[in-house]
Amino acid sequence: MKELVGTCSGCGKEIYCLEGFFNGVVSDDKKTIKCFDCAEEEEK
Ligand SMILES: [Zn+2]
Repeated sequence: MKELVGTCSGCGKEIYCLEGFFNGVVSDDKKTIKCFDCAEEEEK
């Protein structure tokens, strides 16, 4: 099962929920989502 959740606020990549696993990171205010690549970039 693959469900489109939204698009990454950093690169615009589509982020999916795969079999219950959210393939991205939700920001603290829960308004934006990011893919793992962009979330990692921000942490650096
Ligand atoms: Zn991204």
